[in-house]
Amino acid sequence: MNHLIDQLLTPHADRDSVFLILPDDTTVDYRRFTQRVNQVAGLLASLGVEPGERVAAQTPKVWTALALYLGTIKAGGVFVPLNTDYTLDEARYFVENAEPQVAVCQPDDAEGFTALLKSLGSSRVDRRVLTLNSAGEGSLPDAADKCPTCYESVPRSPQDVAAILYTSGTTGRSKGAMLTHDNLWSNAKVLKDCWQFTQQDVLLHALPIFHTHGLFVATNVLVLSGGSMIFMPRFRVDEAIRQLPKSTSMMGVPTFYTRLLADSRFDQDLVRHMRIFVSGSAPLLAETHRTFRQRTGHQIVERYGLTETGMNTSNPYQGECRAGMVGLALPGIEVRIAAVDSGEILSPDNIGSIQVRGPNVFSGYWRMPEKTSEDFTKDGFFVTGDLGRLSEDLYLTIVGRNKDLIISGGYNVYPKEVELLLDCLPGVDESAVIGVPHPDFGEGVIAVLTGTAPPDEETVIAAMSEHLARFKQLKRIFYRSELPRNSMGKVQKNRLRKWYKDAFLTEIAE
Ligand code: AMP
Repeated sequence: MNHLIDQLLTPHADRDSVFLILPDDTTVDYRRFTQRVNQVAGLLASLGVEPGERVAAQTPKVWTALALYLGTIKAGGVFVPLNTDYTLDEARYFVENAEPQVAVCQPDDAEGFTALLKSLGSSRVDRRVLTLNSAGEGSLPDAADKCPTCYESVPRSPQDVAAILYTSGTTGRSKGAMLTHDNLWSNAKVLKDCWQFTQQDVLLHALPIFHTHGLFVATNVLVLSGGSMIFMPRFRVDEAIRQLPKSTSMMGVPTFYTRLLADSRFDQDLVRHMRIFVSGSAPLLAETHRTFRQRTGHQIVERYGLTETGMNTSNPYQGECRAGMVGLALPGIEVRIAAVDSGEILSPDNIGSIQVRGPNVFSGYWRMPEKTSEDFTKDGFFVTGDLGRLSEDLYLTIVGRNKDLIISGGYNVYPKEVELLLDCLPGVDESAVIGVPHPDFGEGVIAVLTGTAPPDEETVIAAMSEHLARFKQLKRIFYRSELPRNSMGKVQKNRLRKWYKDAFLTEIAE
């Protein structure tokens, strides 16, 4: 048995225990959910979805959208979730690239999606658009209602692709990462075991379901465990505080935790019964980790992963969670650090490119064989594009994205090192350090700060010069009310670089 759905869901198919707790506090049990998955699978097959064919989904976070994910795979198809922030114009690229047999979208976008699918030209059976709105209604549920509640999984091998997830593509075009049944299964299994999820767990699920974190990490781990999920359409502090007393576990991006900490109702008593808090997808400040521990008595388990690999490392569930570090390689997954230029494998404490190998690593970029081979080493490690360092006892620290590395006067400046110092200054909440064109140095190091009352530019530059070598020193400081972030809470340094590209223009003019 190696079909993902038969491994994750089928063992729970006849259970009448709760799988989903919806915003109105109604529930969906495993039996009903499995029946819905079966109906969706049957519907998709009747609309011409054959093994390996894609089903694209740009849908609100409602429970039928989860049934669509698992139903697509059950029918042998490949699930392609799209970020709900994309406009129809942006969605065009993904639709043209993935060529789905069926697309599911919001009713308002149905006309646009129909035109997009038409423009793809003919397929054996006409491509179809179905709809799903934020109340869970639309032509998808209407048509699924008429389909049988039993459906046998279409046979697939562990190496067959189950989903294509597009990377966020901050440098150039998004790439579709092909994830196989085995990639998804192996990662769900290892995470369930490491974080000790069981049928008793109730997960507070406030993440989007078009991204690896909410779709695979959270959903697959919970389905595999047979536990329940409080299915929140989005993260809201008030609603999270209402739901936390009913939860045992939470997975979030760092902003969820900083927003909870900013609310005085979030205290030890509220989370007394909680078993685990997991964070990832963006760096969790060491300060947040420590404040969280002081306030709640719990440590946040920080983990590290990517769209292309699922999760690679995690701090231990029982054991030392180190602030500012993303933990140890998960069982069966190898993590190593290599020199960026030569590829030479580096010993502990050296900064270099993070490379990973294991059953979790994707099978390649959809229709981009050259890009795929560029990103793998000869011995099969995936080059993540992240820079990091392993400690002597193999805890990984992320130093930043390779593309965010600053080269000033020929020297490497790792933004994280400077950001950690800036974050300690009184009145500073957050910082982002970037390199922008500089007439003498190639790139000059600048910082963008947020905070209630951060020190002025001169004071910050002077304070930093005591700690940093000359080539790392900040040349300009800018202030904003908040840093630009994407929907997963990642700071968008590409936007900051664009906004501040002329920071040294006066020097250029002189
Ligand atoms: P995505 O493919 O959208 O999941 O983004 C993956 C990227 O997010 C990684 O390459 C890292 O740069 C970043 N990331 C994920 N988890 C962490 C973490 N715990 N700390 C720092 N960066 C992270």
